[in-house]
Amino acid sequence: MIIILKQNANQAKVEKLKEDLIRRGFKLHLSQGTEASLIGLIGDTSSIHEDWLKAIDVVEDVKRIREPYKKASRSMHPEDSVIDVCGTKIGGGNFQVIAGPCSIETREQITEVALDVKRSGAHLLRGGAFKPRTSPYAFQGLHEQGLELLLDAKRASGLPVVTEIMSTEHLPLFEDVDVIQVGARNMQNFELLKELGKLNKPILLKRGLANTLDELLMSAEYILAGGNENVILCERGIRTFETSTRNTLEISAIPVLKQKTHLPVIVDPSHASGIRSLVEPLSLAAIAAGANGLIIEVHNNPEKALCDGAQSLTPPMFDDLMRKINRSTEFFRSL
Ligand code: PEP
Ligand code: MN
Repeated sequence: MIIILKQNANQAKVEKLKEDLIRRGFKLHLSQGTEASLIGLIGDTSSIHEDWLKAIDVVEDVKRIREPYKKASRSMHPEDSVIDVCGTKIGGGNFQVIAGPCSIETREQITEVALDVKRSGAHLLRGGAFKPRTSPYAFQGLHEQGLELLLDAKRASGLPVVTEIMSTEHLPLFEDVDVIQVGARNMQNFELLKELGKLNKPILLKRGLANTLDELLMSAEYILAGGNENVILCERGIRTFETSTRNTLEISAIPVLKQKTHLPVIVDPSHASGIRSLVEPLSLAAIAAGANGLIIEVHNNPEKALCDGAQSLTPPMFDDLMRKINRSTEFFRSL
């Protein structure tokens, strides 16, 4: 970290700042130029917040050289992380598809979709029991009963399951869930992230609606810092001025994240677009951009779906897409 001092800064105050930094355990590297004077901080600066330094009278600006997310950073961990979900590997050279309905509605619905997506080659089953809905009057999910139906579908299909948590108080209900999803709206629910950091279970962390990639990585850092290294990131589209789609898939997020972090990155083309016919082109684009997997909404009767029917594929559509996904992943591996 480099501290740029104001021109003609009061020397007594500069000395006081230097003493304070040394007391905090840093070695200082001083540079006196004609234009500016700099203090280079040598040591672990992850606990120092730039705002604290910027508030000091003699400081003009502060520049970080290394990312504040140490555990998530690729520079500290050059190899890709591979997360094991009941034997299915996510990350590295693997490509996995998570599929299923937006929300769990009935035993027949979730089990039928589970068996269908399994037959088409999906590797994990998704389904929401706790749904974050904009309106308090919209279907909120079946909660505990939904989780039971999801676990029935897991037993029937043999697929590991992914489902969203909204509150730490529900954690005891998630014991048999294979991957806990943190939805976009909870990406910065830091108390929830801290609790998930205490587990030894894969966490699927979705990017917030209006969050930068560095903010996503800092949220991942909360989980990693707690000791849980099983974090999978998900780009699911962000809010922009464009209204043709529900969100805007930020395709460059995939290669940018892959450069910044060793964690696997998957893409959600369903929530990114909100439109069924866009799920295929966005899925193929995500593969081309280097994603480690996809999470896709599939419903056996999208017209009657209680949530997100317009973006849900039917099982035959998903089957067709899986063929294209398999051909595309093979093609990009061969390049
Ligand atoms: C979901 O995956 O069910 C969901 C609500 O997605 P997001 O948090 O990305 O909106
Ligand atoms: Mn949905």
